[in-house]
Amino acid sequence: MQVIRTPSTLQPLIKAYKLASESVCFVPTMGALHPGHLSLIETAKQHGRRVIASIFVNPAQFAPHEDFHAYPRPEDQDIALLQESGVDIAYLPHVSDMYPDGFSTKLSVGDIGQTLCGVSRPHFFDGVALVITKLFHHVQPDVAVFGEKDFQQLHIINKLTQDLDFPVSIIGNPVVREADGLAISSRNRYLSHQERRIAANLYTTLEAIATSLNQLSPLDVDTIRNHAAKELLADGFTKIDYLEIRDEATLSHVTYPLEKPIRILGAAYLGTTRLIDNIRFLPKIHS
Ligand code: AMP
Repeated sequence: MQVIRTPSTLQPLIKAYKLASESVCFVPTMGALHPGHLSLIETAKQHGRRVIASIFVNPAQFAPHEDFHAYPRPEDQDIALLQESGVDIAYLPHVSDMYPDGFSTKLSVGDIGQTLCGVSRPHFFDGVALVITKLFHHVQPDVAVFGEKDFQQLHIINKLTQDLDFPVSIIGNPVVREADGLAISSRNRYLSHQERRIAANLYTTLEAIATSLNQLSPLDVDTIRNHAAKELLADGFTKIDYLEIRDEATLSHVTYPLEKPIRILGAAYLGTTRLIDNIRFLPKIHS
């Protein structure tokens, strides 16, 4: 595995892959690697002759009050994990190469970036789109793998790829969970022992919403969401960002009768740590 830190040293390697007609599959990450990231790399190995994983904590997607500086950066450990997992290139660009002095271009993903996570993080998806656009230009992948853990992000990357004509196939990988159901995340390490004990209740609450939707005469969507939010607060969550029931293909709001595949998505705080999760729900007509 080669560890590459600048776009200019990456370029000749990509050129050589292209000349040899070797397909490139790309896995972008912010590091602090865990089994969720490694599952993306396993998928990437099935879709590309060459696998490139990036580690870049992207300042453009953090608001000033968020955890950009505190975000974990266990670089040596991450590089060892990428080496073990059979990646060809670990790409760790410097902030000064990604956003040199004078960098001023902005990207907007539009309204889809202002709902769900975008309500509390209005600049987040524009920042994600900007860095993924740059990384796609550097890596020139044939395929890129993203996690369903960040379902809205996956949706927006699909849209970005279509809208800006990137010749890249996007693959979504299922959420990897701890034994109790908690979606694995680099931010889970912020949780105290007590917070960790209740963290999986976000997942069980999403499952409970699915069960409610399956009732013969379901309550209206808002009643189900309000009840679930109360349960989470009673469990010890400190703030509910959202609990939403959305059309899986468009992320638009749903109305009864539910006929198409649904995503039940949630974001909630345990102390200062914000957790997100989502599950798929198929209305009975699809099961
Ligand atoms: P991050 O390093 O948090 O930016 O995540 C990098 C990629 O890993 C994104 O595509 C995430 O959706 C994906 N990912 C993170 N956690 C998980 C997980 N538990 N299961 C599946 N994919 C994940």
